Amino acid sequence: MTNKYSITLLPGDGIGPEIMAVTVDVLKVIAQQCDLEFSFQEALIGGAAIDATDTPLPTETIEKCRQSDAVLLAAIGGYKWDNLPREKRPETGLLGIRAALGLFANLRPATILPQLIDASSLKKEVVEGVDIMVVRELTGGIYFGQPKGIFTSETGEKRGINTMAYTVSEIDRIAKVAFETAQKRKGKLCSVDKANVLDVSQLWRDRLNAMASQYPDVELTHMYVDNAAMQLVRNPKQFDTIVTGNLFGDILSDAAAMLTGSIGMLPSASLGSDRPGLFEPVHGSAPDIAGQDKANPLAQVLSAAMMLRYGLNEPLAADKIEQAVLKVLDLGYRTGDIMSEGCQAVGCQG
Ligand code: ATP
Ligand code: MG
Repeated sequence: MTNKYSITLLPGDGIGPEIMAVTVDVLKVIAQQCDLEFSFQEALIGGAAIDATDTPLPTETIEKCRQSDAVLLAAIGGYKWDNLPREKRPETGLLGIRAALGLFANLRPATILPQLIDASSLKKEVVEGVDIMVVRELTGGIYFGQPKGIFTSETGEKRGINTMAYTVSEIDRIAKVAFETAQKRKGKLCSVDKANVLDVSQLWRDRLNAMASQYPDVELTHMYVDNAAMQLVRNPKQFDTIVTGNLFGDILSDAAAMLTGSIGMLPSASLGSDRPGLFEPVHGSAPDIAGQDKANPLAQVLSAAMMLRYGLNEPLAADKIEQAVLKVLDLGYRTGDIMSEGCQAVGCQG
C-alpha cells in the first residue's frame, strides 16, 4: 500500500525558494523509489508574506501547516525588512509558527561526513566519525520561566530576573523524545544538566532516571554542562544522543555544529506531541548569495530526510536521501561553502 503524506512547504526568503525547489525535486524521486505519495502545498511566511499580506505569518499559513503531516521550511528574513519594528519582522513569523505547532523538542545533528572532514575547525583525529544528535527543550526553561523582567527593588536598585523552571510534564515529554531518538540511533543517551548547583536540574535528572527503565535498550548517562562543553571539543566521539534544556541546548547545539564547520550542511527538526513537526536548515536566508545559484541545498535536503525519519516515520526513504547526499559528495561536487581542492563547483541548479 502506498503511504500518502501532505506536506506544507514554506520557502520563505533569500536562498529559501532555491534550496526548496531542489529539495522538492529530491522528494519526488524518493516518492517513486519508495512507493510514497506526497502532496505539496506552498504557503507564505516571513518577508515574502509581509510583502503579499502585510503580516509575517498569515492565518492561512498556520491553518495549512496544522492540516498537513509535516512542514518543510527553508529560511526567512533579509536586508529588505531590517528596518521594520520587531513584532512586524520576518523572524516573528518563525517564532509564531513554532508556537502555533507546539514544537517543544529541537533535534540538531552534528555529523562529520568523511568527504568534508577538511571543513571542520578541529583536528582530523578528533572529529573523524563524529555523529551526534542534540535534543534541546525548546519552549520552557530560563527563556520562558516566571518571574522574568527588570524590576526596581526597595533600595531603588534595578534587578534583572529570569527563572529556570521545568515542570515534571515538560521534562517527561522531552525525555520521551530523547529516549526514542536514542533508540533510532546507537542507543546511548547523555543528559546534560547542572544538578550540582541547580534544583531544577535535580528534578530533570530524577525524571530521566525514573523513565530509563521503560527504555532498557538505551544506556542513560548524566553530565554537567560545563564538562559537556569541554568533552564536546576534547572528545566528541563519545556522544551519541544528548538531551538538555533550552539554554544549555542553545549553547551546546551551536558548539556541536561548529565541529562540522559547514553551515550549508546542517539540518534540524522541531517536534511537538502530535504531528506535524517542522523541518528546516540551521542556516539563515543568506541574502548575500541569494539569486546567484551559489547556495548549498544540502542542509535543506537533509532536513527533508529528517522529516521522513522523525516526522513521517519513513526511515528507509530517509536513508536513501542521506546516501544520495554522500554519493554527490563522493563524486566531488561542491558548492562554494564546502569547496576544497580537486572538487567541481556547482550551485543549486547543478
Ligand atoms: P539568521 O539570522 O537567519 O540565522 P545569519 O545572518 O545568522 O541568518 P545566514 O543567513 O545563515 O546567517 O548566513 C551566514 C553566512 O553563511 C552567509 O555568508 C551566507 O551566505 C552563508 N550561508 C548560509 N547558508 C548557506 C548555504 N546554504 N549555502 C552557502 N552559504 C550559506
Ligand atoms: Mg544566525
